[in-house]
Amino acid sequence: MTETKFPSAFLKRRASGRIIAGHPWVYEGEIDRIEGKAAAGCEIDVRDNRGRFVGRGIYNPASSILVRIYSRAEGELLDEAFIHRRLCSALRRRASFLGCGGAREANPNDLLKCLPQACRLMWSEADLCPGLILDRYGDACVMQTLALGVERWKRMIADYLTGSLGFKLVVERNDVHSRRHEGLDQVKGILAGEDPVVRNVIVGSALMEIDLLEGQKTGAYLDQVDNYQFIKAIAGGRRVLDAFCYQGGFALHAALGGAASVIAVDLSESALQTAKRNAILNGVEGRIEWRCANIFDMLHASAKEGVVFDLIVLDPPSFTRSRDRIPDAARGYKEINLRALSMLGEGGLLATFCCSHHVDSAVFRDLVLDAAFDARKRLLLRQVFSQAQDHPIVPAVPETEYLKGFLFEVMAD
Ligand code: SAH
Repeated sequence: MTETKFPSAFLKRRASGRIIAGHPWVYEGEIDRIEGKAAAGCEIDVRDNRGRFVGRGIYNPASSILVRIYSRAEGELLDEAFIHRRLCSALRRRASFLGCGGAREANPNDLLKCLPQACRLMWSEADLCPGLILDRYGDACVMQTLALGVERWKRMIADYLTGSLGFKLVVERNDVHSRRHEGLDQVKGILAGEDPVVRNVIVGSALMEIDLLEGQKTGAYLDQVDNYQFIKAIAGGRRVLDAFCYQGGFALHAALGGAASVIAVDLSESALQTAKRNAILNGVEGRIEWRCANIFDMLHASAKEGVVFDLIVLDPPSFTRSRDRIPDAARGYKEINLRALSMLGEGGLLATFCCSHHVDSAVFRDLVLDAAFDARKRLLLRQVFSQAQDHPIVPAVPETEYLKGFLFEVMAD
């Protein structure tokens, strides 16, 4: 067995496959024994049942995920230099898809310059740094540290963001329920800088105001940005409904793409106030009607009145955060899709999304087809949507795949 100054967690034989294949979470029940003294937050080597090195992680006895693996390179220390390397490769990964010449050699500052103003810089398991999320909004950055391993690096990361990468503002959005499972508290606040409202940041193709401290998620739904661009490209001349519009991501892009009219609906009055300011920022204020309403009621009433749209975007919040609520969630998804489909005529388009990890793509597709059957509509599948490029999926970690969507066209009778 390799000598190490760190404790070792030995996996049960049956547990190893999933973890060796790339899943970084080691559950309590998967560990046969721990050798050496393991304390909360310490580095720990994960070994298979024969003692062979699998990876190095951080130990958290408060969580049912006892160890999260950060490195598969034997002997690699999980120190400040390690975090810098991870951040640099996350930036490089993103830059390399954006036609930035020399992304392989570039330093982090140059990489940042070629990335979009609003994008996810670091995404947890997908960037081999479980629990760490960094979202960029111009020269501001929002950080989430959702596991003990990265929580202890919080200050150091904030200093790196302001010191080496030149960010003027760093906001912490750790008001996330899942932190409770890690024994971490709910906190949000400003770690560096002052005003947490970014007033003129380009998200996709639209200018937006984003409140990094009070907005939903880290301020915006960056996972939808690629899909905003798609909607912009197809909205021309169409009567559009953006259901669950939040601060107007889809509605603004539809208007910018030349939609004939846009109605955008959300329950949140404060989100709509920001959305209205966003419309002004983009010079499309006369072309979007914002409505504060419950979508279920609004769709019901509009369908009854015989209202017709040419393009409907349905981007609801997750209707379920747990497996046992799937049947209720399925009813909700089916209902809104049915109502939306009934307001589309021949050639009408439905861009429908589901961000619940527990409802997979095949199940979601069947739900929409079920709705279409009840609405007596036959559908053509025109496009499959996923989460934006800066939220890459790790096939060995199913939890990284959560946003799915389809563009359906209503076929002729
Ligand atoms: N499409 C948006 C994100 C939508 S998030 C974007 O790209 O930015 C889901 C939104 O649904 C939230 O803004 C929430 O306020 C709203 N919402 C939740 N339940 C609702 C309901 N029953 N009726 C209308 N809006 C609802």
